[in-house]
Amino acid sequence: MHRRAFLQGAGAGLGVAASTFVPDAFADGPAIKWRLASSYPKSLDTIYGAAELLSERLRKITGGKFQIRVFAGGDLVPGLQVMDAVQNGTVECGHTASYYYVGKNMAFAFDCAVPFGLTARQQNAWMYFGGGIRLMRELFRQYNIVQFPGGNTGVQMGGWFRKEIKSLADLKGLKMRIPGIGGQIMAKLGAVPQTLVGSDIYPSLERGALDAAEWVGPYDDEKLGFHKIAKHYYYPGWWEGGPQLSFYVNQARWNELPEAYQAAFETACAEANVNMLAEYDFKNPQALNRLLKQGVQLRAFPKDIMEAARKAAFAMYDEEAARNAAFARIYREWKTFRDTEIQWFKVAEASYANFLYYSK
Ligand code: CA
Repeated sequence: MHRRAFLQGAGAGLGVAASTFVPDAFADGPAIKWRLASSYPKSLDTIYGAAELLSERLRKITGGKFQIRVFAGGDLVPGLQVMDAVQNGTVECGHTASYYYVGKNMAFAFDCAVPFGLTARQQNAWMYFGGGIRLMRELFRQYNIVQFPGGNTGVQMGGWFRKEIKSLADLKGLKMRIPGIGGQIMAKLGAVPQTLVGSDIYPSLERGALDAAEWVGPYDDEKLGFHKIAKHYYYPGWWEGGPQLSFYVNQARWNELPEAYQAAFETACAEANVNMLAEYDFKNPQALNRLLKQGVQLRAFPKDIMEAARKAAFAMYDEEAARNAAFARIYREWKTFRDTEIQWFKVAEASYANFLYYSK
């Protein structure tokens, strides 16, 4: 045995990490250590977990040459400032939802969800094949960020209502926790939208400061206990038909990465993207089953609410397109894509689902 190889082997026995296998593509590459700011608390384990999966996979693929340390929302920067932190280089990368940043430009919503927009599958089709990544990167480039699809919750629930909602008129004055564009549309329908962080929702709903609250879906909602104080569980969350989470990387840091590291990063993002939806599709049905056993009442939003909301949503997009060139550019392509997707999805997909779910 060569003396150096022997010493390395002995070192491994003493707990020195000399035995890690480093694939050739990374053996001579730099040791990269990044910090990732997540927008989410660890308690939202499915969403937060996507960043940990990214980190774990990169460590394994590169034999430890590319390491990313994940920080929960608020640890390094507040959850809603992940974009600024990546843009300024405070952190190298982040995991967040682009619709948090509609205050900078409403077009960021297309990287996540707009009301009556794409389902999770359609969002992936748009991103990977329909020009979504290309169009969104034109916008993100102005913010020194390269973004990657990084998870999806699937269609969310419409939320928890203390009283039954029978028609559009019942929304008048209704105080509902619903942030973002969904909240703006609710306001147009007469409701009073509120923006509250997760931990503040339950006490407000309990003391009647809120009449209703939306969060995510059965698995995450169950943990916050809304079913104990508001029995009417509405669907669908028409403002989040397939919201995508995204990984953000600072443009300069991305450019510095060797090609093999970039490929590894992109691959790990794609896995995190698939994994989150699969995990929700596994956890939500079981959580819904538990909730139903506790007397939760499932209710569909009345048709007049759905129709008025859709009308208000597309009126808002037309208004925004008239005054925001970046929005108009993305919206035009996105809308054509969406309409063509719907023409197809209502044929085989919808008829199969309808037969399977509703016929006996
Ligand atoms: Ca939601």
